[in-house]
Amino acid sequence: MSYKYFENKDCEFYPCHNSENINCLFCFCPLYLIKNCGGNFNVIKESNGKDIKDCSSCLIPHKAENYDYIIKKLSER
Ligand code: SF4
Repeated sequence: MSYKYFENKDCEFYPCHNSENINCLFCFCPLYLIKNCGGNFNVIKESNGKDIKDCSSCLIPHKAENYDYIIKKLSER
């Protein structure tokens, strides 16, 4: 465990993705509002016609080695 990584196996949603060693630090991805986040999201249409990201197949925020990538992306804003 470090300031870049922790895993909460007691979470009711764990494991939220099909992966070992899920970093829970960025449970809600801080890059969600960035269009070119670098993740492999799909765009789906809500019932109100609005496009939203479906990030269910992306593991960027949940890998410890991506901490610096996320901080860098946020600092570019
Ligand atoms: S979870 Fe992945 S695809 Fe979704 S916003 Fe974050 S980086 Fe982008």
